[in-house]
Amino acid sequence: MLGLMQSQPLLISGLIEFAERHHGDAEIVSRRVEGDIHRYTYKDSAQRARQVAQALDALKLDFSDRVATLAWNGYRHFELYYGVSGSGRVLHTINPRLHPDQIAWIANHAEDQVLCFDLSFLPLVQTVHARCSTIKHFIALCDEDKLPKDSGIPHLISYERWLGEQSGIYAWPSFDENSASSMCYTSGTTGNPKAALYSHRSSTLHAYAAALPDVMCISARDAILPVVPMFHVNAWGIPYSAALTGAKLVFPGPALDGKSVYELIEAEKVTFAAGVPTVWQMMLGHMKPAGLRFSTLKRTVIGGSACPPAMIRAFNEDYGVEVLHAWGMTEMSPLGTLCTLKNKHDALPEVEKMKIRLKQGRAIYGVDMKIVDAAGKELPWDGKTSGNLYVKGPWIVREYFKSEGGDPLVDGWFPTGDVGTIDADGYLQITDRSKDVIKSGGEWISSIEVENIAMAHPAVAMAACIGMRHPKWDERPILAVVKKPGMDTSREELMRFYEGKTAKWQIPDDVVFVDAIPLGATGKMLKTKLREMLKDYRLPGA
Ligand code: AMP
Repeated sequence: MLGLMQSQPLLISGLIEFAERHHGDAEIVSRRVEGDIHRYTYKDSAQRARQVAQALDALKLDFSDRVATLAWNGYRHFELYYGVSGSGRVLHTINPRLHPDQIAWIANHAEDQVLCFDLSFLPLVQTVHARCSTIKHFIALCDEDKLPKDSGIPHLISYERWLGEQSGIYAWPSFDENSASSMCYTSGTTGNPKAALYSHRSSTLHAYAAALPDVMCISARDAILPVVPMFHVNAWGIPYSAALTGAKLVFPGPALDGKSVYELIEAEKVTFAAGVPTVWQMMLGHMKPAGLRFSTLKRTVIGGSACPPAMIRAFNEDYGVEVLHAWGMTEMSPLGTLCTLKNKHDALPEVEKMKIRLKQGRAIYGVDMKIVDAAGKELPWDGKTSGNLYVKGPWIVREYFKSEGGDPLVDGWFPTGDVGTIDADGYLQITDRSKDVIKSGGEWISSIEVENIAMAHPAVAMAACIGMRHPKWDERPILAVVKKPGMDTSREELMRFYEGKTAKWQIPDDVVFVDAIPLGATGKMLKTKLREMLKDYRLPGA
């Protein structure tokens, strides 16, 4: 016997329709590429999203055709999120930090038909457009009078003119909720990138879950600043969760320096912000010397790479801002776990609470996880045994776009490539990417743990730990360190800094100072490149 409830597909258009009808006057504020602040409401945004849909119809785009973006976080990008997916096309957000060759490669692989780009990326588009063989329409996200002349890009039109030709009188189509809504290519540190292809159903379920109190706790009373880019994994789903709750949205545009982000938080009374550790490091670096405080910010979700304990402490203890440490990946839409305390932790002393907050957190309903050994056998949840992390759930990839890489699942589970422990309360702690694990004398050393300790040293701006071949121990850790400007430290001082903080055999054998640690397009450390950089390095005594 089937239930007798109404059947209504979970579609992205439903989110903006809801926001328009029930939170029509809630604000969306954007710092534009032009530098000024733009503000309007969900009602205005929904109207323009419908104009996008009509404009795509006018271009005769088919259902599921891909529309690419190279854009910062802003209101026009937000309209494309809804106009493209809502009309049944697939939004392909491209990471502008990728190498131009890779951008051309993924645009061709995705068979993008349209490319919408912010003017800051004009030189990039001029470099790649001739190599993007499937793109027929180039749209500059600007007013008509800002449209560059003689750009060399064929049929370039301005977004405002493109939209201006449409009435916005449009009914969102209804279709199968399993249809593709957006896509994002993985960072592709090894080989060519592969695309996660999200569906309307997966994105809507993810948006619901992300807003839950034990997840991002988003409500209509929030003003959200997603610093995490809309060009990577849908800005952790915030553009969807915000519409689902009617929260005010504040988009930072291209100005991601500490001063600009801080000023926007204060000016727009932001209550909740989301970003990767490097962004917050820049902001705290701006705030501390100037003695600045937050007047409205209550919590911030930090993920994308391990959040250094020193940062969690600084937010919590110095600024009274709760840090929600999150873990996920492109293949998971991206949220997997988020760290909030349970009721029973209330009575714990602050130091014990902090130990939990440093972990990546508990699985969100919708995500199941397990750790397994090399033979695939499930390992215990004791907080000590570490293993390969596998996940499954309705917003986790089943396979990649165009079946690249074959069937990624193992007995229905997706192997994340991460290694971690899970404790008896279900808190996950990521210790490494499996390829970065350091195996020393038969024991595993967590490079994240080694890095976290170094990051607490006042002179360390960034630290990366990698394993080096060792004749006796197989591998030994060394630490590459970038010093903070104007600060100094030495190899000996840093090695002493580890004493009493970790087991002796986990202390790195050496410290090398470097000008910069190579970062990938999503701001993660590229340890493969670091290893290349240090290929002539020899361990002391090895
Ligand atoms: P991406 O698909 O580019 O978003 O990268 C996902 C990967 O980033 C994960 O598989 C992890 O290796 C890493 N990552 C994300 N969040 C965290 C976190 N909170 N702690 C440690 N690593 C993380």
